[in-house]
Amino acid sequence: MQQTFPWSEVSVYIAGHNGLVGSAIWRALEAEGVGKLIGWRSAELDLCDRDATFDAINDAKPDVIIDAAAKVGGIMANSTYPVEFLRDNMLIQTNVMDAAHAANTERLLFLGSSCIYPRHATQPIRESSLMTGPLEPTNQAYAMAKIAGIFYIEAHRTQYGRRWISAMPTNLYGPRDNFDLQSSHVLPAFIRRFHEAKAAKAPSVTVWGTGTPRREFLHVDDLAQACLVLLQRYDSPETINVGLGDDMPIRELAETVASVIGYQGAIEWDSAKPDGMPRKLLDTTRINDLGWKPQISLRDGLSSTYEWYLANVA
Ligand code: GDP
Repeated sequence: MQQTFPWSEVSVYIAGHNGLVGSAIWRALEAEGVGKLIGWRSAELDLCDRDATFDAINDAKPDVIIDAAAKVGGIMANSTYPVEFLRDNMLIQTNVMDAAHAANTERLLFLGSSCIYPRHATQPIRESSLMTGPLEPTNQAYAMAKIAGIFYIEAHRTQYGRRWISAMPTNLYGPRDNFDLQSSHVLPAFIRRFHEAKAAKAPSVTVWGTGTPRREFLHVDDLAQACLVLLQRYDSPETINVGLGDDMPIRELAETVASVIGYQGAIEWDSAKPDGMPRKLLDTTRINDLGWKPQISLRDGLSSTYEWYLANVA
């Protein structure tokens, strides 16, 4: 990759380095031979604690900060706990960015999610759709916090000339995902449900909604490569999409996961559960123009994620 600065000469703090996204970026930067990697577990540093966050970032004085720390969850967690999803995410991102400003951090990448776009945005969704219509109600608390984060990045660029950026990934999956059935996203939920049904020789598995909403699924190692490209080559106030540019109905995802796991029973749909956004396919023209595109096929990504689940969760 063409680089504007050598990774070996910079120190990078990854907020949320233990999570699905942060741990993938950590692996990718390690492979690049980054000068220094910094991360604190939530037991060591609570990012909702403003003073502690200021002290930690000021002591470390990283050259680059990647904010991959957030309270995240699937459709049920998001719609059940809007207070926590709005408050914790506002606190975390504001504390990290204010501390980064106080420590004079040169480069900062803030990560959000494709749920920031309006429920009825034109598909595939371009970055310019932001704020053009009402949000999907099942995740609007989380989305509102992330939209505030995008504007906060922009505000620091305008007011202080900071070279900070934000990026919005599509639905992600991979090792270290959350496999808790109440709070997880759909893909890890399917891995767990079909694995357990196969083990129990259950004749059927019940999943949520109608199966008609469409989603795209990006392996988190592909996202990590995108983050590295963006930090090297992107420097603009507008947020940038990171996606596949290709989606599928949830029903097809269910069949694919069942086939990778080898579950042969029936799949039943509980339409009393929410479907959420009908479709959120990202337009990825801008990041593709920077020279990034995903490398991991859904089948390969599912197989390796299932192996990780078997070794670490099951
Ligand atoms: P979303 O992309 O923000 O809507 O979040 P999710 O990944 O949680 O859900 C995506 C879609 O998968 C929704 O239409 C859900 O109704 C559907 N879905 C089907 N079964 C499940 C399940 O077991 N867990 C979750 N989280 N979603 C499910």
